Amino acid sequence: MTSIDTIAYNALGAFEELQEIKPEERYKFFEILKIQLTLIQSFVIDLAQQETGLMIDELAAEYSRALYQIEQYSQMLLDNSFGSDKKHSENLLLEYHPIGPVVIFGASNFPFAYSTVGGDVISALVAGCSVIFKAHEGHPKTSNCMYNALKKAITEAGMPSDIYQHVYAPDYQYAQNLIQHSIVKAVGFTGSQKVGRILFDMCQKRPDPIPFFGELGSLNPVYVLKNYWHDNEDIFRQQYIESFTGRNGQVCTHPSILCLPENAKTAYFIKNITCYLEKYSFRKLLTDNIVKQFKKGYAYLCDHYQKIGDYQVINDKNYVKPTLFLISYQEFIHDKNLQDEIFGPIGFIIKYDNYDALHDIAKCVSGQLTSSIFGSKDDYHSIMNIEKIVRHKTGRIIFNQMPTGVQVHDAMQHGGSYPASTCPHFTAVGRRAVFRFVYPTAYQNKPAFL
Ligand code: NAP
Repeated sequence: MTSIDTIAYNALGAFEELQEIKPEERYKFFEILKIQLTLIQSFVIDLAQQETGLMIDELAAEYSRALYQIEQYSQMLLDNSFGSDKKHSENLLLEYHPIGPVVIFGASNFPFAYSTVGGDVISALVAGCSVIFKAHEGHPKTSNCMYNALKKAITEAGMPSDIYQHVYAPDYQYAQNLIQHSIVKAVGFTGSQKVGRILFDMCQKRPDPIPFFGELGSLNPVYVLKNYWHDNEDIFRQQYIESFTGRNGQVCTHPSILCLPENAKTAYFIKNITCYLEKYSFRKLLTDNIVKQFKKGYAYLCDHYQKIGDYQVINDKNYVKPTLFLISYQEFIHDKNLQDEIFGPIGFIIKYDNYDALHDIAKCVSGQLTSSIFGSKDDYHSIMNIEKIVRHKTGRIIFNQMPTGVQVHDAMQHGGSYPASTCPHFTAVGRRAVFRFVYPTAYQNKPAFL
């Protein structure tokens, strides 16, 4: 096993070499990478299907997204979107510089779009950083395959070989030593709040604290208002089922909390959705660790709250069916455990009978990647009230649409107050994600001859 010191100094050497390579040359590397990835596409999607249990069409859509991210982010090297984007006053000039070698943890749930060649890695490489990638144990064959394509692209484009190093951590200490190495200047992470917080604290306690860009957990509440509900229950139900069950609920924008008015329509909705979910097929969860966390969260909810429907949720292979619990608004407000993300197709419905109760729920919810408000014109004042409560802790506020499906766009904000993210003023999706890995320098009175 290569020592951490060697990995860190290799990353530093590659970082320094990278600074001498023109943006157009670096852009060519991303073009070649896209070609290499296209060549292995169908093979690696099959591989990922076997390792993760995600469906082929889910993985194919994710693959296209990963390629699109590479295309979009790398364009920044050509169109002066950063780096050489110089904002002048008469004697001030602002330039962005890459932050240095960085460590990126691959996410368990997106083997393409947030793993080996995913958004975090590509953001850092486009910024001009070298990357030490901590591969996720949940999909090693897929990760190795993507890494081989990346290595080919590095060689063909004539880039320094260590701009990307692919490591598996034999133990947690190894990963912790990696992020505490003095050469490392930032960390990208997607995972649990518990582990994310440990690693965040370590980064802050270093003699030289460094940014830790962590995406840790979000419940993505969906607030449904009375007038909207009266006319749109059936349309909503279809959208909700799709969003709640997609990728077996293992996405950061999963709608885990659903707030509905207390009325006959809601009783009808619950009856219908229960019939649908109990007929749903069991599906595999991504990893043993996620199974363990799911079982723990499910057991807690069964012990304390009313499960909707009377069907088996976990089978003898540890595959799961989507499941919902009914929770009163007072219970939600008083039970802090309900603020923790349970990863997978699990969630709860909270019925409210007046808007004060709904506001209390919105106030009590912690930092979120998304908050969705379903309202019609006649709900105008209620929409505005909810929006005012959630805007200070939500990265993306959505009207009349579900939170799943995150567009890769310059106007996207994929972040939110803690614990949704540890750096809410940055985004992990869209080209602005690159700005996590650069720092600005102001030059004053720079002589023309420089
Ligand atoms: P995790 O347990 O937080 O692990 C994330 C990464 O950190 C893995 O690479 C893991 O390595 C490593 N790690 C774990 N404990 C560590 C420690 N003490 N020191 C250093 N490194 C450590 O997340 P996961 O296993 O990928 O998924 C489990 C949970 O994370 C889920 O149940 C879910 O709650 C959350 N999650 C959230 C999102 C989101 O976007 N909101 C996405 C994915 C996961 P190993 O693989 O070797 O354990």
